[in-house]
Amino acid sequence: MTVGVVGAGISGLSLVHSLADHGVDVVAFEARDEPGGIMRSRHVDGHVLELGPQRLRLTPQIESMVDDLGLRDQLRAGDDSQPLYVYHDGELSVVPLSVREALTTDLLSPLGKLRILKEPLTGPAKPGETVDEYLVRKFGRQAARKYLGPLYSGLYGTDPRNMLMEYSLGRALENAGIDGSVLLWVGRKLLSGRETPPICTFEDGLGQLSKRLYDAHADAIALETPVTEIHERGEGFELGTDSGTEYVDDVVLTTPAATSAKLLADIDSALEATLQRFNYNPIGMVFLESSFDGDGIGTLVASHADARISGLTWNASFLDRDRVFTCYIDPGSDPRMNERSDDELGALAATEFERITGSPAAPIDVHRWDPGMPAYDRSWTAMDELELPSGIHLCSNFVGRPGIPGRVRNATRLAATLADE
Ligand SMILES: Cc1cc2nc3c(=O)[nH]c(=O)nc-3n(C[C@H](O)[C@H](O)[C@H](O)COP(=O)(O)OP(=O)(O)OC[C@H]3O[C@@H](n4cnc5c(N)ncnc54)[C@H](O)[C@@H]3O)c2cc1C
Repeated sequence: MTVGVVGAGISGLSLVHSLADHGVDVVAFEARDEPGGIMRSRHVDGHVLELGPQRLRLTPQIESMVDDLGLRDQLRAGDDSQPLYVYHDGELSVVPLSVREALTTDLLSPLGKLRILKEPLTGPAKPGETVDEYLVRKFGRQAARKYLGPLYSGLYGTDPRNMLMEYSLGRALENAGIDGSVLLWVGRKLLSGRETPPICTFEDGLGQLSKRLYDAHADAIALETPVTEIHERGEGFELGTDSGTEYVDDVVLTTPAATSAKLLADIDSALEATLQRFNYNPIGMVFLESSFDGDGIGTLVASHADARISGLTWNASFLDRDRVFTCYIDPGSDPRMNERSDDELGALAATEFERITGSPAAPIDVHRWDPGMPAYDRSWTAMDELELPSGIHLCSNFVGRPGIPGRVRNATRLAATLADE
C-alpha cells in the first residue's frame, strides 16, 4: 500500500513520520521550497522570528518525537507562569487565569467577580448558541466581554458573536472532557495535581522541528512540487504534479479547505462545493524590536478597544527572545489591513505597541497569511455535509484541532488507521 500526502506542514510531516514508523510506503508533495507550512521560522537581523506559531505545548507525544529526532538539546523552555494581559479602556490589566489573579485583578468589579461564581449553576451550551451568548450566560457580561471572549476568539480572528458553540468552543470543551461546569472542572484539575504540558520552542525556533522531520524523511517528500490534480484510477488515485504522475492507494490532504476543494473537484463536485464554504481569516504578523521590559506572555486586545491590532506576543519576556515582540493584525482589528503596504502595517503595529505598553518599537519584518487561521465561524455548519469518498482523507487544521499538539495527534491516529488497512 502507498499513501500519497498533499502538503508538508506539521500535519503532513507528522503523518509521514508516523506512517514510516508503521512501515507504510508514503510519498508526500509540498508546494513550497521548504517544509513546515505555517510552522516556519526566520533569522532576521540576528533575531529568531516565528512566522506562524510562537510556541507549542510539549505533550508526551511531541516530546517523544523530539527525542526520536535528536532535538532535545535544542529545546528551550518558555515561562508560562508569567501573566497574560488584556488591553481594555486604555489600560493593561492582568487576565485572571488563576485563583490569585481572579481575586486581585482590577479588570472586573466585585460584582463581576461574584457573577463568575454562579457558573456551576448554569447549564451546558444550548443548540444554536453562539460563543458570546454562552460565555455571557455562564460567566456574566463583564468576564465574557472583557477577557473570555477575546481569549478564545482572538486565536481565530473571529467575533465570538459569529462563532457557534457546537462547531467551535463546544468542541474544544468536549475534547478536554468538560461536559458540565467549567469552574468545577478547573477545580478538579487543580486538586488532582495534573499538570498542563510545559510550553517550549527550539533554539532556532519551531521551524527547527519542521526541518528535522523533513531531513529524517527527505527521500519521501518532494519539495517545490505542488499537486495540481487528483483523479480516481482503478482502486486508487493518480496525483498529478508538474514533474509527473504518482499512483497511490490512499490520499491524505493536509491543505486548507479551498485548496483541497479544487484538488477534489474531479472526484466529487458536491464535496468541492462543501469544502469551498469554510471561511478563513487573513492574519498580518509584524515583528517588532523594543526594549520594553515588562514580564508577560502577551496582550489580548478587546475588540471594542481603541487599538487597531488584535494582540501581541511578548517573545522577549516569556521565551527570552532578545527584544522581540510579535504583533497580530486582522481585518476585524484593522478593516484596511489588506490595502496597506508592509511598511504601513509595520508603522501601525509600532504605533499601537507604544500606545499599549508606553514603549517605542521598530518593525523588523512583516509576514502575511492568507489563508490564515480557520475562522470557526457560522460557515462551519458545512461540517455536517462533509462526506469523503473511500480512500480520501483530510488531516487539516480546519477539521481537527488547530494547535500543533492536536495536528500531531490527528496525524498519528490517521497513520495508525491507514497502517491497519
Ligand atoms: C498566525 C498563526 C499562529 C499560530 N499560533 C499557534 C501557536 O502558538 N501554537 C500552536 O500550537 N498552534 C498555533 N497555530 C496553529 C498551527 O500553527 C496550525 O494549525 C498548523 O501549523 C497547521 O499545520 P498544517 O500542516 O495542518 O497546515 P499548513 O501548515 O497550512 O500546511 C499545509 C501545507 O500544504 C502545502 N500546500 C498547499 N497547497 C499545496 C498543493 N497543491 N500541493 C502540495 N502542497 C500544498 C502548503 O505549502 C503547506 O506547507 C497558529 C496558526 C497561525 C496561522
